[in-house]
Amino acid sequence: MSIDQRTRLRGCGVIAIAALCLLAFATANAEEGKPMIPPAQALQSLLDGNHRYVSDRSDPSNKRPSDASQHPLAIILSCSDSRVPPEIIFDQGPGKLFVVRVAGNTYDRLALESIQYAVGHLGTTLIMVIGHDQCGAVTAALKSYPDPNAGPMLTNIYAAVRQVREHGGDELDNAIDRNAILIAEKLAREPDLEKRVASGALKIQPARYVLKTGAVKLLQ
Ligand SMILES: [Zn+2]
Repeated sequence: MSIDQRTRLRGCGVIAIAALCLLAFATANAEEGKPMIPPAQALQSLLDGNHRYVSDRSDPSNKRPSDASQHPLAIILSCSDSRVPPEIIFDQGPGKLFVVRVAGNTYDRLALESIQYAVGHLGTTLIMVIGHDQCGAVTAALKSYPDPNAGPMLTNIYAAVRQVREHGGDELDNAIDRNAILIAEKLAREPDLEKRVASGALKIQPARYVLKTGAVKLLQ
């Protein structure tokens, strides 16, 4: 066999493996009867939507009502801050985002069950945990730390506060990023999510929203 033939065969092998992977993904979708979007594609759709928003080219059709069945391309765990509206900053219409919002973008059992529902029953393959500039909840957590009686909204942020206190620098700026990263890591260890993350069927992406420009920055 010539080197050329061997190279071609090897190329065919790679293509065959890729095709099998795609087939496996499509089969899994067919079993559940839901159109699942690969995590990387879902993330790209979010980033494309944010780019449209930042460049003032949001799609007007995303403001129209819809009674179609929902197949959200992403779960967004965001802060409740009124300046961070997920559907607007990602330019997504009804049915596209499954949103859980709580001040400080952390979660409790109720929020976790909402997230698990979207992953398990709606076929969503991407969770984005998004913090933002000037976060009041993170600011308050920095002030109250280490008071254990501060309440879950603030104590849920203490792990991030503890880490940034050890490293110095701009504590608020660092704690906002650290909090989104730690919450994403914590989610990745939760029942029903851990195996999906390990297999690559689910991606959990920490991010930060820049208030002044409207841009979303990926943190990892
Ligand atoms: Zn906030």
